Amino acid sequence: MKLKYKTYSLPFKHPFTISKGTKTHQPTLIVELEFMGIRGYGEAPAISYYNIPVEKMVEDLERKKIFVEKFAFSDPERYWHYLHHLFPANPFLVCALDMAGWDLFGKLKRKQLHELWNLDTTKSPVTDFTIGIDTIDNMVAKMQEKPWPIYKIKVGVENDIEMVAALRKHTDAIFRVDANAGWTLEQALQKIPLLKQLGVEMVEQPLAKDNWEGMKILFEQSVLPLYADEACVFEADVEKCHQHFNGINIKLTKCSGITPARRMISRARELNMEVMVGCMNESSVGTAAIAQLAPLLDKVDMDGPLLLNEDIATGVGFENGKIIYTPTPGLGITIEPF
Ligand code: MG
Repeated sequence: MKLKYKTYSLPFKHPFTISKGTKTHQPTLIVELEFMGIRGYGEAPAISYYNIPVEKMVEDLERKKIFVEKFAFSDPERYWHYLHHLFPANPFLVCALDMAGWDLFGKLKRKQLHELWNLDTTKSPVTDFTIGIDTIDNMVAKMQEKPWPIYKIKVGVENDIEMVAALRKHTDAIFRVDANAGWTLEQALQKIPLLKQLGVEMVEQPLAKDNWEGMKILFEQSVLPLYADEACVFEADVEKCHQHFNGINIKLTKCSGITPARRMISRARELNMEVMVGCMNESSVGTAAIAQLAPLLDKVDMDGPLLLNEDIATGVGFENGKIIYTPTPGLGITIEPF
């Protein structure tokens, strides 16, 4: 195989704020794996609170490029195991390479991944559209700029109930909220019933990621379903979230790719937990991989390309939140070869 990569800093349409901070650009790594003249692509955006900047991904990749290339590629699951051992401390990089392996595999088989997995795309949930933290006026304006059936509202700040109440005055759309670990147990217990009254359907990561004791209490008392995000990173975390959360929000980048994400979905189902896959502001490369998994999910948050002002590939479309699939094999995207 031959490996090439490019790094990008994709500008957001609006500065993107969550309870952890603001960003104006999304740094991201795109890898290209070429095998028998066919090219597969994968992506890993850098997220500051996971401490793996794009430079670190590039540094690790450069150091072991020869080993990445010399693997005798036959199927992506075997490739993931190899990569997982090659880069044990860099799940983001493993994700990008695993995704490229799956794209390549689909293209070699001339099928999209959802076809290889026998999934029915009519079952894919509608994606939400994220409203980052801002002044209330700006949040209302951002929402009105993008009429959408489901909004995911970032909360975890002092006046968050006021924010959600103001947005509710302007739409009947479904609301979800994501506190990004921004509340204490007391705040969560007080705010969640108010959010339910405002028509919020679920709450993502209310408490700090290691506050399992608090989550146990909240899980017993919450009037809304609770989903783990920061508390559910790797495969082993699914088990830990059981009886503390109603569902998990898997992200391909943090768990290290499509291969472990599929196992996490299966395990969550065995534990009767709900499953969502979320994006980390990927371009259409990373979100195309989420689209392939979408029929397996209860909820999906794959609005990355809608929040960014530039894209790297074409292929993933949305019609009022509904995912539009293309006939392109693999991930379903078209991209200019490197
Ligand atoms: Mg989240």
